[in-house]
Amino acid sequence: MAEECIFCKIIDGEIPSAKVYEDEDVYAFLDISQVTKGHTLVIPKQHCQDIYHTHPETAEKLFARVPKIANAIKQTYEPIGLNVLNNNEEPAGQSVFHLHIHLIPRYGKEDGFD
Ligand code: 5GP
Ligand code: ZN
Repeated sequence: MAEECIFCKIIDGEIPSAKVYEDEDVYAFLDISQVTKGHTLVIPKQHCQDIYHTHPETAEKLFARVPKIANAIKQTYEPIGLNVLNNNEEPAGQSVFHLHIHLIPRYGKEDGFD
């Protein structure tokens, strides 16, 4: 765990979160400021700051869980589409420096996410 990392604290339970999925390698939870209903973040339990610093095995486990979590979101929220997004480095929109994948359910033109 990286001491000042908020996502490591979420994994540890030090910061509360709305859990969507968990196994020994991966944790998924609702984004605190959801751009659409059901906006979920999927993170590796092993801290790594971004895609550049990620061990291939960590990436493999992380990305392998995405279809299962995406299907769970589809069942729960019944979106009509889903964006899978990963921001790396500040100019690309990264604000938390623990690798994460955004799953953003889409509900049509009025869902507010462009
Ligand atoms: P980024 O901008 O790094 O791609 O995404 C970071 C995401 O983490 C943002 O969408 C932000 O709303 C979310 N986030 C930041 N702090 C917290 C938190 O304490 N709890 C939860 N659930 N999400 C957070
Ligand atoms: Zn971390």
